[in-house]
Amino acid sequence: MDDSIVKGNVVNDRVLNDGDKVFYKTYNRFPVAFDHAEGVYLYDVGDNKYLDFGAGISVCGLGYGNALLNRAMKSQIDKGLLHTSNLFYNEPAVEAAEKLTEMTGMDKVFFTNSGTEAVEGALKIARRYHFNKGKKGCEIIAMQGSFHGRSMGALSVTGKDHYREPFEPLIGGVKFAIYNDLDSVKALINENTGAIIMETFQGEGGIYPATEEFLKGVRKLCDENDLLLILDEIQCGMGRTGYLFAWQEYDVKPDVMTVAKALGNGVPIGAFLACGEAAEAMKPGDHGSTYGGNPFVCAVASAVLDVFKEADIPGHAKKMGEHLWKALEEIKEKYPDLVVDHRGKGLIQGLEFAEGVKVGEIVKKALLEQKLILISAEHNTIRFVPPLVIEREHVNEMQEKLDAVLAGLS
Ligand code: PLP
Repeated sequence: MDDSIVKGNVVNDRVLNDGDKVFYKTYNRFPVAFDHAEGVYLYDVGDNKYLDFGAGISVCGLGYGNALLNRAMKSQIDKGLLHTSNLFYNEPAVEAAEKLTEMTGMDKVFFTNSGTEAVEGALKIARRYHFNKGKKGCEIIAMQGSFHGRSMGALSVTGKDHYREPFEPLIGGVKFAIYNDLDSVKALINENTGAIIMETFQGEGGIYPATEEFLKGVRKLCDENDLLLILDEIQCGMGRTGYLFAWQEYDVKPDVMTVAKALGNGVPIGAFLACGEAAEAMKPGDHGSTYGGNPFVCAVASAVLDVFKEADIPGHAKKMGEHLWKALEEIKEKYPDLVVDHRGKGLIQGLEFAEGVKVGEIVKKALLEQKLILISAEHNTIRFVPPLVIEREHVNEMQEKLDAVLAGLS
């Protein structure tokens, strides 16, 4: 056996065993330790090569080792200034915020360290906006099947009982409507309602896009009732649907939006953005973050936004999404007993498997036997969220590998 593989196995086992001893057990990790990456491939500690169709859960949109991002990171490191706190201004943060406002038409940006924190900030805007108008503790309508994060606030609006129940009581005044069912939203609105929060496209919940009719209907309800529309674009945003942000496909603009994941391409950064009156709701002292918007993460985000614009990453995602659609349709037709549905658009698509088919096992076999990284979602679904820079040949390679796994099952 090749020496590097033996060495790799020893290192892999050490990392796995030692990791299990020291990590708080909230994840069931796969038994692989990655070491380095290039383009759309990751390499484990034994130098085995894996095709990435998960992008670190929809994060590494530009893949791995992008020269421009590397230059931006190194240049900020060479300046010696990674952090200043928000007591001061820094140029990369101003630049990143300017680019985000220009690309979205929103007015104001607050940088966070994660998606969850962006959601927290968005919820605080809703409460503050109505507090300013004399309505305390406004109610929030969220969607069943949604995912917004794990902090107590973000969890409160996450529409999955099994995530919420062990930690209740969470923040009060949250009601859940049925995604893509406008009447169910209407039925929950009363004089205490203050905001509606939803993903423009549910990712974790099983790859369900909002219909145009639903999005427009929710916007109208918000306008008629002075409610803030908060769109969570943390997973579906940043080019994945073929648009920089999923809502830009429709003539619907949120009052508040959240972004994270692909904004930093792996460097931890998120943001909430607001426009109009919502952009003025919070006052100095209402919200803060020690790290949020530091010069290092913002230099990276600024470079990410440049690449998205200059290389038209959303346009590329749309084109590659068509190949992915065709490949997954072929898989669906070839395995009618296994695959029951194919959903999504651009480079956020899902295959739902029949009841009784163990999606977790497919994902594990793909990883260990075919060196293909896939991730699952709710509703017995595998989600396909590759780096946005994949090419046609990568879609073909994924199809062959997935085909090999499914052939072994059927
Ligand atoms: N919102 C959505 C739609 C997400 O998909 C996620 C994470 O998967 C979050 C919020 C939470 O983001 P983070 O894990 O960066 O805190």
